[in-house]
Amino acid sequence: MRQVILKGRGSAETLCIGGGAPVSIQTMWKEGIVPVLGDGRVLAALLNRIEQLRDLGCGILRFAVPDEASADALRLIAERSVLPLVADIHFDYRLALRVLQGDSRVAKVRINPGNIGSKERVRRVADACAARGVPIRIGVNTGSFPRDIASRVASGRLSRAEGLSETALREAAVLEDLGFTAIVVSMKSTSVEETIAANEAFAAKSGIPLHIGVTEAGPLIGGVVKNTLAISRLLGEHIGATVRVSLSSSPENEVIAAGEILRECGLRKGGVRIISCPRCGREGFDVRSFVEKHEAALLSCKKDALVAVMGCEVNGPGEAAHADLGITGAGDGAVIFKHGKIVRRVRSECADKEFMEELESL
Ligand code: SF4
Repeated sequence: MRQVILKGRGSAETLCIGGGAPVSIQTMWKEGIVPVLGDGRVLAALLNRIEQLRDLGCGILRFAVPDEASADALRLIAERSVLPLVADIHFDYRLALRVLQGDSRVAKVRINPGNIGSKERVRRVADACAARGVPIRIGVNTGSFPRDIASRVASGRLSRAEGLSETALREAAVLEDLGFTAIVVSMKSTSVEETIAANEAFAAKSGIPLHIGVTEAGPLIGGVVKNTLAISRLLGEHIGATVRVSLSSSPENEVIAAGEILRECGLRKGGVRIISCPRCGREGFDVRSFVEKHEAALLSCKKDALVAVMGCEVNGPGEAAHADLGITGAGDGAVIFKHGKIVRRVRSECADKEFMEELESL
């Protein structure tokens, strides 16, 4: 697999995609960004959230750029972002040029050549990217097949997965004919099987790094299930350089889900792993609230530890004896245990703080 480099710009570090580099997690910003142009506090809050996404394991962050103001806002955010930022451009190639103008620190541009228009427009974007060492991600979907491929798919001579692969290969060839090779490809499908088949077909013919995931996968639970099936299968075949778990949920949940998939695929080591009991009538500790409250902080922690959140003292420390650190309820308070042995009995109102202290001291 080829390697594409997102050059470190400003506060963001250089990131390699493909060619043996670790698989990166990507997510997408879900709100408009124009308000950062007029309000430093909005910008600061956004930059702070980007740092939190980085701490959760996010490696690349993509932003929709639907208009000129968004292009200007993205340049402003990229000046101080700790993550490499990707501009997502549809239809209007001039927005890509605007995102890249001046001393832009935008790290990558994502276009769908199928809706950008003429080859001349694609060339203008490629030239601007080449001048700044900025890679292009080609994103294709089943709604923007070239006419001949659409016709072959409609007549059954080509599957939709083959159509996606053929379209992506053709679009990549357009850029390569222009001498532009810093390319990443993604093929969008809402189907698990189609996602797998399209990526397998493309990878069999090209060494261009692939960004993988099921698109528009749905709400949290259904979306995680679909993406887990597709991404784990493809990564098991050594296909995929970056991943996104596309969800109708927060970017944080997308990053957490992707991180768990990479971990279970053996592609991510270290950090905090959380086990928590499913709860039952014996529950004397609010497992659900504790996990929901602390999940992001725990997963952002750089300690290498197995953490258990259990519902009762009867089974908790025993069932989670393999955990480095655990917590469960006891009477009107909680107990904190390490490797099955209780090390603290704490009042409920102090449980969060004392648990975090024990985590820090591991
Ligand atoms: S740890 Fe306790 S509360 Fe949780 S499932 Fe087991 S028995 Fe139920």
